[in-house]
Amino acid sequence: MQKFTEKEILKMLKKFFGFTQFKGKQLEIIKALLAGKDCFVIMPTGGGKSLCYQLPALMCEGTAIIISPLIALMKNQVDALRTYSSEDGVAHFLNSSLSKAEINTVREDLLAGKTKLLYVAPESLTKVENVDFFKAINISFYAIDEAHCISEWGHDFRPEYRRIRDIITAIGKQVPVIALTATATPKVSADIQKNLSMDKAETFISSFNRPNLYYEIREKTKDIDKDIVKFIKSHPGKSGIVYCLSRKKVEEFAEFLQANKIRALPYHAGLDSKTRVENQDAFLMEKADVIVATIAFGMGIDKPDVRFVIHYDMPKSLEGYYQETGRAGRDDGEGLCVAFYDYKDLNKLEKFSTKKSVAEQEIVKQLLAETAAYAESTSCRRKHLLHYFGEQYKEENCGNCDNCLHPKPKMDAQDQIQLVLEIIQTIKQQFKADHIIDIIIGEKTTTITKFKHHQLKQFGEGQNYDTNFWSNVIRLAIFEGLIYKDVETYGLLKITLKGEKYMTNPYSIMVAKPKGEDDDDESDEVFIPKGEAMDDNPLYAMLKDLRKEISQKENLPTYVIFQDVSLEDMCIQYPTTMDEMSHISGVGAGKAQKYGKPFIELIKQYVEENDIIRPQDFVVKSPTNLSAINVYIIQNIDRMIAFEDIAMGKNLDMDELLTQIESIVSSGMKLNIDYYIEETIDPDHQEEILDYFANAESDSVDDALEELGEDEYTIEEIRIMRIKFLSDMGN
Ligand SMILES: [Zn+2]
Repeated sequence: MQKFTEKEILKMLKKFFGFTQFKGKQLEIIKALLAGKDCFVIMPTGGGKSLCYQLPALMCEGTAIIISPLIALMKNQVDALRTYSSEDGVAHFLNSSLSKAEINTVREDLLAGKTKLLYVAPESLTKVENVDFFKAINISFYAIDEAHCISEWGHDFRPEYRRIRDIITAIGKQVPVIALTATATPKVSADIQKNLSMDKAETFISSFNRPNLYYEIREKTKDIDKDIVKFIKSHPGKSGIVYCLSRKKVEEFAEFLQANKIRALPYHAGLDSKTRVENQDAFLMEKADVIVATIAFGMGIDKPDVRFVIHYDMPKSLEGYYQETGRAGRDDGEGLCVAFYDYKDLNKLEKFSTKKSVAEQEIVKQLLAETAAYAESTSCRRKHLLHYFGEQYKEENCGNCDNCLHPKPKMDAQDQIQLVLEIIQTIKQQFKADHIIDIIIGEKTTTITKFKHHQLKQFGEGQNYDTNFWSNVIRLAIFEGLIYKDVETYGLLKITLKGEKYMTNPYSIMVAKPKGEDDDDESDEVFIPKGEAMDDNPLYAMLKDLRKEISQKENLPTYVIFQDVSLEDMCIQYPTTMDEMSHISGVGAGKAQKYGKPFIELIKQYVEENDIIRPQDFVVKSPTNLSAINVYIIQNIDRMIAFEDIAMGKNLDMDELLTQIESIVSSGMKLNIDYYIEETIDPDHQEEILDYFANAESDSVDDALEELGEDEYTIEEIRIMRIKFLSDMGN
């Protein structure tokens, strides 16, 4: 290869790309490649990975062969490269989408030496006629993009990638190879280098830390749909992606969001390409705020201001998780990454893998176990993720993940860690974590009996804590570098040098206290919807109109029919049967019967027209009339017992009793309290108060008292008359 000085390289950067300086390790990498060395580059998305081969390709003699699995992106890359040169032939791609004539043009340009970069899909590279052709041209170097596709430990394994080395050898040019990926665990890296015979390659690893991303795991409950709607509504106008595992879920959930007035569109590989392009463009141009997608969405999408990435389902691997969350906050602004986790989901994924070979199943199992460990961890998410990518995160508290911001109570785990190490040593480092936990908690499994591990003195020594706690301890010991999971042997736990030292020289290491050990349960924070305004809700407006119509027809104040809180509750619960209506806040069976019908019809129509998915968990508020105290009150009023005596019987004061009676009446129950009114309230006052409520704007007792005069009337009188009014008129 030709030699270039640093100054010349910088000059070329300016000439071709218009930049005056390099980002991160770009310059080091380019220098190494130009010096003829094999390079292995791990650089997170957004780090400027492609420039590391594009610039040297433009500078060198001959053609650089760029192997990339993303046929869809080749054209974009080639188009972009052509803008850097006056000659269209500077960059070409070769894949199955080209016609015979187009292939001929490509070949002519290659032979004429016009082409600096040729993008090739691995399938095309392996074709015999192409191999022969490549022998005839001058090749500057090979670049293998998305190199993680080589490893079956990666999240995107492509078997044809495994043949790349053989083809390069067959073409027979002594030129350097640069392999690049945005994602690789130490295991995947080792696999890539081994497969490409790049053991002497210079390795360049950039930090995977994305300080601006906030990581949070939430428990996935049946309320997940509502939880996500609330989250999105509390970030109005922001761009976000919701990832689901299945196409079906993508479509369902996009519709659900639309029904809830969120500008959302679906994206998955099963949609026709026109729809896919349209939806993607709508998202990029902010005609849609949210894309609900399978992992098919996002590769090569460079929208810098994606503010949140929500995982409806936990991804199959932590690499996938890192990649997908990595699409948030590319501009270094806010990026909220919230994943909903349910262990059962991972179990399902594991079951799906049973059609694969045993070795493949084992891989799936391990990847899923890593994901579960991450989701269940009580320590820093960032530390955990970076550790997964082989990077040590030194900060104690990252200040930007759920576990750091809301730490769970901790305890010193020195003794527990020592116990774990001791057992690993005793059983000669030949077992995995679950087996070690079985020994600790004294679980006599068949494997335990087979190896006579129930006879160990440590057997059952840690049974005062549960499996979860011990998993945490083991994870912690791994983070602290005391033990490691040996991937070659599918995860047997081994002690590190540091761990051996720890056994003789232990020190305090804190671990999250197991649940149940001093629970102040304030950790279950939920979304705080920022001003979820009912006024924006079209159904609410419609219900209000209907109420007005009825109030005019019946000549009753609107609140007598349904109070605002009841209408609000209807907008959340969407009651479509009489029974459901009677469970709405402030509506009882009586009221539901009397006024419910037109409201139910309106709601039913609205739900159908707008494809509303109603909350499956219809909140059944225990109807007031069922509580024992209310039964007692109703029975005694029936027997025309004085209120004072009723109150005394249940040890209530008058205020408490009236509150109970009010709740009974407002739920729709009709009560005849005339007997008590006749005895206690002046007939003129009765009339005045009833008159007042018949014309009042609201049912507020305070307003009534002010209007009628505090000197003449008492609060009690007004409340009692209001009870009669609401009961007679409304119920
Ligand atoms: Zn953290």
